[in-house]
Amino acid sequence: MTLQTWVPVPEGSDFPVQNLPYGVFTPPRAQGARVGVAIGEQVLDLSAIWAGTPLGADLATGSLNRFLRRGPAEWAYVRERVTALLTTEDQRRLVEANLYPIDQVTLHLPVEVADYVDFYASEQHATNLGRMFRPDGAALLPNWKHLPVGYHGRSGTVVVSGTDVVRPNGQRKGPQDPAPVFGPSVKLDIEAELGFVVGAGSAMGSAVGVDEFAQHVFGAVLLNDWSARDIQAWEYVPLGPFLGKSFATSISPWVVPLAALEAARVATPVQDPEPLPYLVEKEPWGLDLRLRVELNGAVVSRPPYAGMYWSPAQMLAHTTVNGAALRTGDLFGSGTISGPEADQRGSLIELTWNGRDPIALPDGTTRTFLEDGDTVTITASAPGADGVRIGFGEVSGTVRG
Ligand code: CA
Repeated sequence: MTLQTWVPVPEGSDFPVQNLPYGVFTPPRAQGARVGVAIGEQVLDLSAIWAGTPLGADLATGSLNRFLRRGPAEWAYVRERVTALLTTEDQRRLVEANLYPIDQVTLHLPVEVADYVDFYASEQHATNLGRMFRPDGAALLPNWKHLPVGYHGRSGTVVVSGTDVVRPNGQRKGPQDPAPVFGPSVKLDIEAELGFVVGAGSAMGSAVGVDEFAQHVFGAVLLNDWSARDIQAWEYVPLGPFLGKSFATSISPWVVPLAALEAARVATPVQDPEPLPYLVEKEPWGLDLRLRVELNGAVVSRPPYAGMYWSPAQMLAHTTVNGAALRTGDLFGSGTISGPEADQRGSLIELTWNGRDPIALPDGTTRTFLEDGDTVTITASAPGADGVRIGFGEVSGTVRG
């Protein structure tokens, strides 16, 4: 049976009733952020629906964390109740009184981010970067097909879509420079990624199994891992990314629950050599998402998520296999999503081959890396239940000098 809602949902909307992503918002002329669900062009205030209950108190706060901490049974209960409210007339008046047009509310960072980790799960991206950063060595390092490579990022600089990004200062040293120089990055870049939000934590000293993904991860956001390539290239050996990444990471305001992504699940690519047993999934969490990257309104890339070598469930299992605990609000990025085609690369360093091949924009200008005033917007869509298309909204940011 196809779900039908009485709330108007325009054709092609990112937010049909099969999606119901969660965000945190403040209504117009109101005080206090609260949790809501997007439906069509509106947001439903869930704190009002559950007003006067302990759940309502957990929804009347400025982040999703208290709701997420309640765990997967409660996530399923709320999704089922919200679906019923939007698809039956029983409490239509209550619902209508608590719907707000999305374009009139203020959207906030949806999650108080605990730890932030970023992976490197696209074979195409890792190969492209390996070729550029290590032209004389193997493109993929020996560990890459045995474990999901990642690093710990900076949770305090994860910001919501719409937040300006200030061009970072730092050290850089080109191969021909006799000594490092200091100043604003001249190779500011983006990385189009998916981010996964941990809802239910785990105990220190225990591992989360690869098939326990949906018991811990609540949902996914779009993520732009802003990257200063010149700072990164000079600093990253031997301990990995640091200041070239930590100045800003943008995420979309809507968290699409895993429950809405069931229809998008696909197998991951063949993994050869076979990973160690703790990384072997019974039912893989590959995802058939199609992303779109716009620079000043012009589409510059269409990265496909389905080709990602490592699944998010494998990334989560690897994160905890040493006994590291998960916390509510942990966020992990997939790594740049790059497909095999030239117009499917999720970063400018790949699209322009480290500046060698500038891209032309419709206004007649060209780009190698980002200029001050540039706006980057990433969107994505996926197959949803009942054959509908679901979307993620967008993650957008403008560079300031
Ligand atoms: Ca990244």
